[in-house]
Amino acid sequence: MHTKQEQDAHNIQPSSLPISIAGVTKSYGPLKVLSEINLHIRSGEFMTLLGPSGSGKTTLLMTIAGFIRPDSGSLKFGDEEMILRAPHLRGVGMMFQNYALFPHMSVQANIAYPLKIRGEDRETIKARVRDVLETVQLGGYGSRRISELSGGQRQRIALARAIVFKPKILLMDEPLSALDKNLRELMQLELRTMHEQLGMTTVLVTHDQREALTMSDRIAVLRSGKIAQVDTSEKLYSEPNSEFVAAFMGESSFLAVDADGALFGFHGRKLATESVAADATARHFLVLRPEKLEFITEEERPSYNSFEGTVEKFLFQGESCLVHVRLTTGELVQVRRNLRESNKSVLPKVADQVLLGLHPNETRIVTGE
Ligand code: ADP
Ligand code: MG
Repeated sequence: MHTKQEQDAHNIQPSSLPISIAGVTKSYGPLKVLSEINLHIRSGEFMTLLGPSGSGKTTLLMTIAGFIRPDSGSLKFGDEEMILRAPHLRGVGMMFQNYALFPHMSVQANIAYPLKIRGEDRETIKARVRDVLETVQLGGYGSRRISELSGGQRQRIALARAIVFKPKILLMDEPLSALDKNLRELMQLELRTMHEQLGMTTVLVTHDQREALTMSDRIAVLRSGKIAQVDTSEKLYSEPNSEFVAAFMGESSFLAVDADGALFGFHGRKLATESVAADATARHFLVLRPEKLEFITEEERPSYNSFEGTVEKFLFQGESCLVHVRLTTGELVQVRRNLRESNKSVLPKVADQVLLGLHPNETRIVTGE
């Protein structure tokens, strides 16, 4: 005999499941939309699929949801293979831009829908809808009609409907892209907080790198149906593995550098870096993030990789300034300085000759085309 407590302990279900994608491939005619995708998403992780339009993000998400069947490969939730399972039997919550609410129905009826089709009883449905409306901060809105709500409120209701049946996996495709900037940023924080509270495994699709950096535990960057890099926000930003990823993750200039064995040179001057050269046929580029470049003095030069140039433009941009510097070797690079932290007297003016410093720890070299 088991005590009641032991039985309860047995009944505790995990609130999330890991997702394992292995060798997933999908073509439409000659177009290979997903090519040998391998990705493990940890239980409870917030993973973002980030990439330019047409890179295969939606196709990959729809494959996880079950609306697209790949040509080959495996998809597991926990230990269970999902490839042949119908979407409504996968138990995932979904929030898509075009996954519309029923406009003629009340908020209550919209949110109750997933519970109804799962055969929950009326009392349970009532309690769950009330709870989830609190979660999305729309407590008391149950009897409103969808047509009476603002865009932001509708997105919250769509989210409530996606999570009301306590899915272990939540999938979202560009859920905030229709909202204006302020509301979008607010909803990003709220989604993140909700994820921390509820803990389901979450996969978000976006083409907005800032949104990805803000929200994710890890980001998978897609390019032409392949995964270019999977890493935390910090790592993707500071250690991109390619020119593509570096260019996609924020502002940067790229300088072509020469690889000579394990050493890199820029116009014959050796660069101090921990990056290592790829094979001899690859082209290498130095990644220059505007905020990592500093204006240095001749005395400071030995601790930096340095570049001489002339200021072409000086742009005030509120809390920071952007300085365009033409290097003596011909390339144009951009330097961003925070105006609150910088001593304004040391900032250069247009036509000034300057010395730019890049610390060896910030000197990142990637391969590109
Ligand atoms: P993303 O969401 O990253 O913008 P998608 O996954 O929607 O990209 O699409 C990836 C590529 O697959 C695009 O080139 C798109 O035109 C193509 N594609 C998507 N769905 C179909 C389809 N049903 N038939 C033919 N081509 C498609
Ligand atoms: Mg898409």
